[in-house]
Amino acid sequence: YRMGKLSMSEMIIETAEKFRTQSTHPIIIIDDASDVVIEGDRERLAQVLMNVIGNAIKFSPMGGNVTISLKNDSKNLHVSVKDEGIGIPTEDIPKLFSKFQRIDNSSRRKIGGTGLGLAICQEIIGKHDGRIWIESQEGLGTSVHFELPLLSETTEYVYPEGAEGNPPVMIVEDDI
Ligand code: ATP
Ligand code: MG
Repeated sequence: YRMGKLSMSEMIIETAEKFRTQSTHPIIIIDDASDVVIEGDRERLAQVLMNVIGNAIKFSPMGGNVTISLKNDSKNLHVSVKDEGIGIPTEDIPKLFSKFQRIDNSSRRKIGGTGLGLAICQEIIGKHDGRIWIESQEGLGTSVHFELPLLSETTEYVYPEGAEGNPPVMIVEDDI
């Protein structure tokens, strides 16, 4: 993994742009976390976005919006990708993070894929100390959520030797 400081907001806009030219589904981005920074592997996190957004589009054969929301608290960034597609039966949701698990029923048989995408997503998000989960209602749509730790604000207090009682020198790294 090649870790670096990343803006997930920028990565999501880039990925949405890639899909825009080949998809009939409007992609709506609701960004309430535009200024936060995470530490991650750009290529691998892009792979997560490509699969999750790709799934949202391909399992919505009747169209509908794909809505990507970003928000954060003091510790984590939360991303959700919501579609208005065919949904997933509740009992199948836990299986989908295993390799080669696809749901085989008539509404999906025509939709291609190897069933590796979500297993890879879980591996990648796990390597970033994050978590990924799915909420879905069959026939109504699916939301795939993931959470990644924010890069903590690098504020350090330095007390020179013997000067512990004096006001600290504060080093604030803000060169993102
Ligand atoms: P691959 O990603 O390897 O090309 P895939 O898309 O079938 O193949 P996953 O991304 O791992 O594989 O998804 C596993 C299965 O989960 C899918 O085959 C599909 O049945 C179900 N699934 C995933 N995302 C959605 C979604 N947004 N809506 C409905 N079903 C979904
Ligand atoms: Mg997939």
